[in-house]
Order: sequence, then C-alpha cells, then structure tokens
Amino acid sequence: MQTSPETRARAAGTGGYLVIDLAALVANYTQLSARSGQALTGAVVKADAYGLGAFQVATALYDAGCLHFFVAQACEAFTLRPSLPADAALYVLNGLPEDCEASCADQNIIPVLNSLRQIARWADLAKTRGQRLPAVVQFDTGMARLGLSSEEARALAAAPDTLKALDIRFIMSHLACADTPENIANADHLAHMRNISALFPGLPVSLANSGGLFLGDGFLQHLTRPGIALYGGAPNDAGPNPMQAVVSLHAAVIQTRTVPTGTRIGYGGAHTATHDMRLATLGAGYADGLPRSLSPRGAAWHGDIRLPIVGRISMDSLMVDITDLPEGTLAEGDFVELIGPHQSIDTIAADAGTISYEILTALGRRFYREYRGHT
Ligand SMILES: *Cc1c(COP(=O)(O)O)cnc(C)c1O
Repeated sequence: MQTSPETRARAAGTGGYLVIDLAALVANYTQLSARSGQALTGAVVKADAYGLGAFQVATALYDAGCLHFFVAQACEAFTLRPSLPADAALYVLNGLPEDCEASCADQNIIPVLNSLRQIARWADLAKTRGQRLPAVVQFDTGMARLGLSSEEARALAAAPDTLKALDIRFIMSHLACADTPENIANADHLAHMRNISALFPGLPVSLANSGGLFLGDGFLQHLTRPGIALYGGAPNDAGPNPMQAVVSLHAAVIQTRTVPTGTRIGYGGAHTATHDMRLATLGAGYADGLPRSLSPRGAAWHGDIRLPIVGRISMDSLMVDITDLPEGTLAEGDFVELIGPHQSIDTIAADAGTISYEILTALGRRFYREYRGHT
C-alpha cells in the first residue's frame, strides 16, 4: 500500500503507523451477528479492544447495533463506561473485586460473578440498597479458570434469597478449546453447561467466543461473545480465515546500508551476512510489540517482495534484508509492511511462535494510529 503524503506527515517522528479499519471491524461484527442467528451478539473489548482502542472500537460497534460489551477488569469498565450510551451493557469478566461493589453499582457496570463470595457481596449490597442488582454468573465447565463449580452451582440454585436479590441477566461459561473444532472437549463443555442451565430455568445462556461461533448452532445459545474474530484474527485453526483484516502496520525505514559477506548483523552478531547484502533498519522493535522470537523467521514486505528479518530484534529497531529489491527502491523515510495483505496477524504470530491475540495486544503505543472507515 502506498503511504499518502498526509499519513507520511502525521507519522513523522514515529517508528511507523498503524491503520485500524473500523469499516472492516463493523463488517466482521455483521458477519458474526448473522452467524449468531437468534442469539444476540456482544463484543469483547478487553485489553483496550485487543490493543486497537476500546473507545473507537466500542463506539463503532455500538453504532452498528451492538449493545453488550465485555472488558476483563473493573478499571477498564470505569474508563469505558462514560463513553458508552446508557442502553449499552458493560460487563466485567474477571469478577467483582472487593471494594468495587458500590462504584460498579453506581456506574451501571455489570459484574460477572465468579464465586459464591462475590455473589454474596453483590447480594448484600442489593439488600442494603433495596434494589435488585444486575449480574452475570459464570460457571466453570472444563477450563478451571473462572466461575462456580458444579457443587457451587447447586448451592446457589438452593439459595432463593440470594437469587431474589439479583437481577441475573444471563449465565455464562467459557470454552477452553473452541479454536480446535474437532476437539471433543467442546461437546463436553456444552453438555456441562446444559446441566447447569437446568438448575436455573429461564435464564439466558452465553457460551461462545469467536471459535464457539463456528462450532454449530448448539453453541450459540442466547448471547455470543466474540473478540479476536472482530479484530480480523482467525477464529479457529480449520481452513481459511473468513474474517476481514482490521489492522495494518507500516514500519519506517530509518537507514539503509550495504554490507559485504561476513558482516555480523545486530546484537550478539547473531547473523552473519552470507552474501553482499543491502539492509534496511526499521524504526520498530520489541518495545513496539514485535517479539524477539520473530527473528530469524519473520519478514517485512515491500509490494510483493519479502524482506527477511536478519539478526536479533532490538528494542526500537530491527534489520531486514532488502537485497532482492532494485537498488534505490527504499530510502530513509519510506515505509514497509509488517502487517497487511502479505502478512496477516496470524502469519506474524506463527513466525513468532505465538497467537494473533498476543501480537495485537502488544502492538506498541508509539506508532501513529490512523482510524479509518467510521465517522
Ligand atoms: C477473551 C474472552 C472472550 C473472547 O474470546 P475470543 O477468543 O477472542 O473470541 C470471550 N469470553 C471470555 C470469557 C473471554 O475471556
């Protein structure tokens, strides 16, 4: 992609620019809503919407009709709540922290209650205030991370006073293996959730994350909770990714040079030039979210030409081999693609030995960020 003179000017002084395509985000939401069928479609915007900006993402999705937003921590909810209209529900997945009860209730933030203690504290506040407080209750159906055990579920079902104090919007669980559709653990989760659901007749159920949306209609239940698929990541490991790319990253060339065979390149001299080489140094490194483990497998791109990363990635820079480009193609001030049509977030993640989630959430705050496609 050509860099417009406007973008070039705005990105001046940074290590590169990140384009966040809100129209693609909304198209992904629309596609996932269609997949959700009768179920409502929420949006997981935790960790600053996977690094892409919770305010911009939530605003665009609200305008596209989304009314259910999930963050992980109460502090994220306190930040985001004032920018969301009152009819948007905002849930805190990691539970109800001690001493946050009153502020959550005051600010219309809905905790996902993960333990009997959290349920008791929320119910106590409800009784004190003489009003039923909105809540979600989470159950562990095979991940051993968050939520009530089966035994605790039965204890709760047998506590009508507590249940009466709460306005339980839905009950939920989380799938441990939804990104591997063939995994039999998925069916176990669903069966487990059906047993829990039978204890709480009439309460809506939420189970599916991005991967869960692709496991079959039984997993959709009443409210889906996609995250990564909204942001263009592959929802599972099966076949081509049906989602549109939302992010592209363009790193600035900050120097070029020619080095002879035998030159040691980068920290530790870890790479030795095996031929006379032309190199470009890019102004982005591991402090900008490009993992050190990306070396030596990863690459940047210029047009259709792959530019392999050579040597170790530094904190603020990295080197790529530009020998395959005609001389003079790249110069200081130009940009190369690190994420884009030639290299998806899943590709760069695979090269770094990680997952797209980690690439997105680590994307540095030093890049110039350009939001497109939403007014
Ligand atoms: C992060 C998270 C999601 C979203 O998961 P994706 O795989 O990104 O779609 C949904 N539910 C819970 C409980 C989560 O923690």
